[in-house]
Amino acid sequence: MHRYGEPPAGRWAAPGRVNLIGEHTDYNDGFVLPFALPLRTVVAAAPQDDGRWTVGSELSDCPVEFGADEVAAPGRVTGWGAYVAGVVWALRDAGHHVPGARLAIASDVPLGSGLSSSAALEAAVLAALVDLGGVDLPAERRPRLAQRAENTYVGAPTGIMDQAAVIRCRAGHALFLDCRTEAVEHVPFDLAAAGLAVLVVDSRAPHRHADGEYASRRASCEQAAELLGVAALRDVPAAGLDEALARLDGDEIRRRVRHVVTEDQRVLDTVELLRAGRIRDIGPLLTASHASMRDDFEITVPEIDTAVEAALAAGAYGARMTGGGFGGCVLALVDADRSDAVADAVTTAYAGRGFHAPNFHLAAPAPATHRLP
Ligand code: ADP
Ligand code: MG
Repeated sequence: MHRYGEPPAGRWAAPGRVNLIGEHTDYNDGFVLPFALPLRTVVAAAPQDDGRWTVGSELSDCPVEFGADEVAAPGRVTGWGAYVAGVVWALRDAGHHVPGARLAIASDVPLGSGLSSSAALEAAVLAALVDLGGVDLPAERRPRLAQRAENTYVGAPTGIMDQAAVIRCRAGHALFLDCRTEAVEHVPFDLAAAGLAVLVVDSRAPHRHADGEYASRRASCEQAAELLGVAALRDVPAAGLDEALARLDGDEIRRRVRHVVTEDQRVLDTVELLRAGRIRDIGPLLTASHASMRDDFEITVPEIDTAVEAALAAGAYGARMTGGGFGGCVLALVDADRSDAVADAVTTAYAGRGFHAPNFHLAAPAPATHRLP
């Protein structure tokens, strides 16, 4: 904040997130199980008397400035500033008064890697503006508002998982979220106590046609739900899968449905194991989730499959792509003292295939969005 010449009124931190299991289930009204990362975005904020918003990010040379006109309707601020303007717009659209503010953003969440730097930015800005303005907005209602900023103002059609994760997660726990009801359960996930670690491999693979493929998967799921006469694929129970598949024509749509229905069940099974403290035993479910994304939903790429195979061969209990697909990250459940060896195995496999060297992060469930002391 020193660049604006005055100290900030406060600082707010919001984490990135990784999804342990439950991929492409959120927009099917299903289940997800993300947890917050130690990587985070910090916003330093102070009131600005002219009622406008001035925003700087360490990641950009150009500060963004906007006023009431630009947040009167979606789309008027573009680029990274849209995530901030979107939050202001969504707050105002929900009837809240948002004071003008100066915001300075720093982050160590990698951008565009599938660890949700976008939700971290939205959540940190939202927390700052709500506190500065004295707005009464309970945590349960914040994810939808941040999601509206991203869906409607920025124009990115994402589900509710990212914002719910970064706003509602708890340290030492994964967040079992029912995307239909938004009911949450904090499920114990104390990796350190179990001598385990989650190794996150950022594949650094270029996102190939990710937006179009996401939209087409989403459309297939909606079409299948309509053909099956249900509100969403979440309403097809695992026990009724074969019967549902028999009512659909075409191999591709059947495989799409099979992924979503079996993935919802894998989330439920993972939650059961975690409630019983059996963290190691979730490994096969993670690996099965990966196979389903690779073979049935067809959203993986060679870099991602290579990371999963190398991690498993090096002794991971389970490994899977995490995030929307076509690039992004893989997570592997490993013994804590094996994480370096598994990372080395992935690096070696990448070199052998001529891929960009991957990046690694160790993930343990961190706190959700909060004001810093
Ligand atoms: P992901 O959420 O997986 O990181 P997205 O494409 O959803 O990827 O969001 C990334 C975008 O969010 C960036 O391109 C940028 O516009 C914006 N963004 C996120 N964090 C920051 C930041 N610290 N500073 C500026 N822009 C950011
Ligand atoms: Mg995002």
